[in-house]
Amino acid sequence: SQVPYAVNEPVRSYEPGSDDVKSLISTYKKMWKKKVEIPMYIGGKEVKTKTKTPIQSPQDHQHDLGFYYAGDMSHVDAAIDAALAAKKQWAALGWEQRASIFLKAADLLAGPYRDRLNAATMIGQGKNVMQAEIDAACEFIDFLRFNVEFMTELYADQPISADGIWNRAEYRPLEGFCFAVTPFNFTAIAGNLPSCMAMMGNVVVWKPSHSQVYSAQVIMEIFKEAGLPDGVINLIYTPGAETAKKVLSHPDFTGLHFTGSTSVFQGMWKMIGDHIHKYKTYPRIVGETGGKDFVMVHPSADAAEVATALVRGAFEYQGQKCSAASRAYIPKSLWKEVQKIMGDQLKSIKMGSPEDPSNFVNAVIHQQSFDKCKSYIEAAKKSKEAKVLFGGKCDDQKGWFVEPTVIETSNPQYSSMCEEIFGPILTVYVYEDKKWAETLKLVDETSPYSLTGSIFAKDRYAIDEAYHALENAAGNFYINDKPTGAVVGQQPFGGARASGTNDKAGSKMNLLRWVSVRSIKETF
Ligand code: GLU
Repeated sequence: SQVPYAVNEPVRSYEPGSDDVKSLISTYKKMWKKKVEIPMYIGGKEVKTKTKTPIQSPQDHQHDLGFYYAGDMSHVDAAIDAALAAKKQWAALGWEQRASIFLKAADLLAGPYRDRLNAATMIGQGKNVMQAEIDAACEFIDFLRFNVEFMTELYADQPISADGIWNRAEYRPLEGFCFAVTPFNFTAIAGNLPSCMAMMGNVVVWKPSHSQVYSAQVIMEIFKEAGLPDGVINLIYTPGAETAKKVLSHPDFTGLHFTGSTSVFQGMWKMIGDHIHKYKTYPRIVGETGGKDFVMVHPSADAAEVATALVRGAFEYQGQKCSAASRAYIPKSLWKEVQKIMGDQLKSIKMGSPEDPSNFVNAVIHQQSFDKCKSYIEAAKKSKEAKVLFGGKCDDQKGWFVEPTVIETSNPQYSSMCEEIFGPILTVYVYEDKKWAETLKLVDETSPYSLTGSIFAKDRYAIDEAYHALENAAGNFYINDKPTGAVVGQQPFGGARASGTNDKAGSKMNLLRWVSVRSIKETF
């Protein structure tokens, strides 16, 4: 390729006492004390309003971090206008110029901004040191660098020509403006959704989750410093439902790039349907939504590997990943051993603020999430079909803390086995070893989602059976590994069914959705 060859950003290990960890924690502490005022960015200008909304940190919701300026529908209009005003000049810019901006953003993030974006993610979204590093630094850097490379590969893909005929494919940006709606749980996704559309020559209105405003602002600063022209990406903090109505009924709306809940995505899809006659062109709709990700264990599996995968897959970042392991199917013959090792590991896990890098889990994102987790735990405590094996304590006095919790159920259709909770709760169903084949069917049919899933087995025939029986049950399928932690360029990420449109994040497939190809035939 003609651009610098993309390789995955090395993950810093943050060894105790290392310069890296000292520098990150001191940045965290400085930022923790500072009161911020976070503006929106419309047409490259900082926009402040009268609606000052406090920023809360999951680990200490009473701590005063300052506020962000929330907007109303006039700001949505302004953001659309600013995007459309920037459109012509941006779309006409050569791809090399666009590539340079995003490669520079990646370098700024790998160097001078790394601590700041990691610390912002730790403060605002409650990630610990390593979870911030693999997300806000490495995954985001990888998205930027790999997408630049994918973009140039895509442009290089040209049709064949014939005698006296020259055929060309011109990868044009979409006609109109795009809408990026991003979640709180990955800073990398928040950065990737608007930037990959912009990279392909589009202009964007970006509405992040109100729980991710702190790091969204740092992302915007990085883009600006990297030279992103005014109006190409416009960042607004406005009420979700109203904003969607306004944006999706605009005649120049041309593409939705969404990560978030299934119900919100379905609601937006319906709205797009209702307005379909208004648009200049059929909009592109790309969404990554919910998950109820499985770990299916065969009797031939290694119990210690399974236990470690469950603890990491279910509880890293408090289980707030679409990919988190949330239902496990374990054969009776292995259960005792798996349970013992899991118990030992859970005992050694520390919970608390990321300011102490030895804390493995922190608080969940907000009160609503805390209440949801608590209600599933309380229900399990009362249920005849379930019992709480580990954890179960919830305390929201200082932060929204929910202990890593393992529920065992005798009913494979039990609520926490089927419904997405998005918190540190794993439900286990123990099956009779001889019912392996029936249980595979259960895994496939128990939830409407199809995002990630793992099979653990040493027996190659069993792996093959699961491989076929679960072919539609997970967009990202792991063999003898936990179902989280997809790496850009290695495992393109996304799922089908109720989990999304499966237009893999960080891939050529995804970038293709943001261009409208003109086929050109010239005869001589
Ligand atoms: N890509 C992440 C992973 O593989 C999950 C992204 C998400 O939660 O949306 O763990």
